[in-house]
Amino acid sequence: MLFVIDFDGTLARKDTVDAMLEKFAPADWEDIEQEWLAGRITAVECMQQQIRMVKADHIAIENFFRAIELDDAFLPFYRHVSAFAKVAIVSDGLDHAIHVATKHAGLPEIPAYANRLHFVPEGIDISFPHINPQCNAGNGVCKCAVARDLSGMQDMPVVLVGDGKSDACLARSADVVFAKSSLLRHCCEQGIAHIPFDTFDDVLTTVKTWNTSLPQQAVNLA
Ligand SMILES: [Mg+2]
Ligand SMILES: [Zn+2]
Repeated sequence: MLFVIDFDGTLARKDTVDAMLEKFAPADWEDIEQEWLAGRITAVECMQQQIRMVKADHIAIENFFRAIELDDAFLPFYRHVSAFAKVAIVSDGLDHAIHVATKHAGLPEIPAYANRLHFVPEGIDISFPHINPQCNAGNGVCKCAVARDLSGMQDMPVVLVGDGKSDACLARSADVVFAKSSLLRHCCEQGIAHIPFDTFDDVLTTVKTWNTSLPQQAVNLA
């Protein structure tokens, strides 16, 4: 079994990219957000433009990433599931934010797949090593492709835990979807079976009822 864990708004309590823009970018980053929400630019174009608006030095950004608040219930969840499943953090946010925040929280090293952050003299920039032009979701990280690669030949069942727009492409193909916030609304609208959750405590409670194989009733619960 493979657990695909979203970062912003799921493992991290808030969206760290938005919080970073609020702190370090001029207020018109929100205009670009509106362009994306209205479908006039892709998620990738939106992120690239916004990330380039960040004006801060390396130390200020590192400190900001260290202060990212994570869901306390994640570690007990991770300890339980890593005994029988693969776990990966798959995020359409920034790789360095994930590395710094998880290390600072004392979490074990968990494989992470995200957009790459680059420090440049004026601030930061972003590149997209996990982009997939074949997926029409238009995200920087195509979660359905990453999950396909990681679950690989063994045809492992995939469990998605997520909260937002970047989780939508994988929600269609995952065997089980734990959903909150806008992903929850998306699943309801699209008729995608899902299990609502708030924290990893809820996810763990459900997973404990599964034994170690993926139960059909979990898929049909929602
Ligand atoms: Mg998210
Ligand atoms: Zn995709």
